[in-house]
Amino acid sequence: MPHETVKINERTWRIEDSGVRVFLLAGDEKALLIDTGMNLPDAAEIARELTDLPLELLNTHADRDHISGNSSFDSFYMSPNEEANYRSAGGMGTIIPVSQGDTIDLGGRVLEIVDLPGHTPGSIAVIDPECRALISGDPIQDGRIFMFGKYRDLNKYVGSLKALSAFDGRYDEIWPSHGSFPVSPSIVSELITAAESILAGSAEGKKADLFGNTITEYTTPPAVFLCD
Ligand SMILES: [Zn+2]
Repeated sequence: MPHETVKINERTWRIEDSGVRVFLLAGDEKALLIDTGMNLPDAAEIARELTDLPLELLNTHADRDHISGNSSFDSFYMSPNEEANYRSAGGMGTIIPVSQGDTIDLGGRVLEIVDLPGHTPGSIAVIDPECRALISGDPIQDGRIFMFGKYRDLNKYVGSLKALSAFDGRYDEIWPSHGSFPVSPSIVSELITAAESILAGSAEGKKADLFGNTITEYTTPPAVFLCD
């Protein structure tokens, strides 16, 4: 399926790649690609058609549907806690470690990193003050949230979403990698309630098969959680 590029403002784009979303943010001096999608080995070229600025890459996390075009970059921003997941997916290149409180200055546009471990150990989000958006990766969205298999931790997930309240008032929209675009910040408390009901055993799950794995699917009001 071909990708589709959607302009958000004069220097912000989202690239829709068969169910996965990639972002490109430009400042005065450089541009940042956020993830490289599932079927976008040419993600860097797509970005360079949109901006002439020097291009850098940040990965929200290292699941395979977010790194397909990483090989165009010698180095990229990623949480150090994501390295094992990235290397086990065959990921190459040098990780420039970033974690909560770190900033990336694109020139007149200073992005801030937020740690959101749980979906994966090194899942991170990015606050863009220009668009007042939280670019959330996979943990905060209204589609399917993968929480089965290695590297997932639903308790940590709930803790991350609760800790996000420290950033209340810093963003008006959430821009996830999957599902609807955008989603309201009010989804965060709904996801916490849903995940807590799964942990408490009070959510109703049904067994399903996904890529040969037997998983338990919890259809909750904000999103579908796919768990062990
Ligand atoms: Zn994903």
